[in-house]
Amino acid sequence: MIVFHQGRIILEDRLLDNAALVVSEGRILEVGSSESILSRTAGERIDLAGAFLGPGYVDLHVHGGNGADYMDGTPDAVITANRAHARHGTTTIFPTTTTGSRVQLERMLQACVDVKAAWGTSQGARIGGVHYYGPYFAADKVGCHSVEGRRDPSADEYQAAFDFEIIKVATCAAELPGAEAFYREAKARGCLVTCGHSNASFQEMQAAFDAGMRHVDHFWCAMSSVSTIRQRLGAPFQASMEQFVLMNREMSTEVIADGQHLAPDLLEFAYRMIGADRLCLVTDANRALDLVPGKYRFGPQEDGAWFESDGNVGFVENGSLASSVSGMAHLVRTMVKDTSASIPDVVRMASLTPASRIGMDTELGSLSVGKRADLLVLDEGLNVHRSFIGGIELTI
Ligand SMILES: [Zn+2]
Ligand SMILES: [Zn+2]
Repeated sequence: MIVFHQGRIILEDRLLDNAALVVSEGRILEVGSSESILSRTAGERIDLAGAFLGPGYVDLHVHGGNGADYMDGTPDAVITANRAHARHGTTTIFPTTTTGSRVQLERMLQACVDVKAAWGTSQGARIGGVHYYGPYFAADKVGCHSVEGRRDPSADEYQAAFDFEIIKVATCAAELPGAEAFYREAKARGCLVTCGHSNASFQEMQAAFDAGMRHVDHFWCAMSSVSTIRQRLGAPFQASMEQFVLMNREMSTEVIADGQHLAPDLLEFAYRMIGADRLCLVTDANRALDLVPGKYRFGPQEDGAWFESDGNVGFVENGSLASSVSGMAHLVRTMVKDTSASIPDVVRMASLTPASRIGMDTELGSLSVGKRADLLVLDEGLNVHRSFIGGIELTI
């Protein structure tokens, strides 16, 4: 048994001051007042001395960190990125594919299967599943990814990918031929089905929704708007992915809240219009996380597209952004600073909301009795000091 006491415990809907949390056999046994729990519970004691105790973060969309991109396709690269993200508070991670060849994608899936099977506390964040993100992007919305690596969905390819039995999030642009069949298969395989890197119209979104799509990748980035649909389909103006998400309570989405992709007014808008129960924070971090400014490859080391990091964000030559170089703890701090969301609401968007969209919320995502003890000790500035998975401290 471990008793964390004298903490400010971050619950999904409120803060609990002078509180204690008991871990037994890797799970949360009890949460309550320090005084009462200390008076009747034996075991190892960890005095939080007023620090926050929160749930480990869950990142659904992340490409790499500390020099490694998951598409490098080796267990070493996967572990390097998982360790880097654990230092920023992520305890459950969804390594994310990009555009690339079928061989490169399958190599990445196999590396994630191997690392997941042999996970230990020296290896950082635990893999919750893979986000099969590229290669099914729309040609006009590839963003920083290599255009040559994108293609339309092919059943032969994605069936083989799903057969690795590790994919838990599956993305495809809704307007591509074969998208609906892809969505149906992803749904049947138990995935969170998402539309991204897409210039889809409202009607294409409705067809995608009917096939099981329920989420949109990085809201406002590489997605359609009224004006891009106007350019594509002419007058009268039509609704886009943005209106579809805002109008439909069954849809969720995510923001890259690194303070570089979206201004405070858009973060506040997303929080207020979409809400903490449907909005996830995702790092979308690339390999330049925790590295010095410089030129790096997005995707596979051997042939990924080049981008530049200035230490705050990635960008490409035309000035477009090329995903973040920030960890989840930075996103949490940014949301607290830039929006009216409370600390419990912000932390929820980084833990319980993604966990519930992926169907893992009975196991993790909040400090509820019975869940796995994935815990973060945070100082008053919400910097990560210690992290635990299943009650065991990570050695990272
Ligand atoms: Zn993207
Ligand atoms: Zn991404």
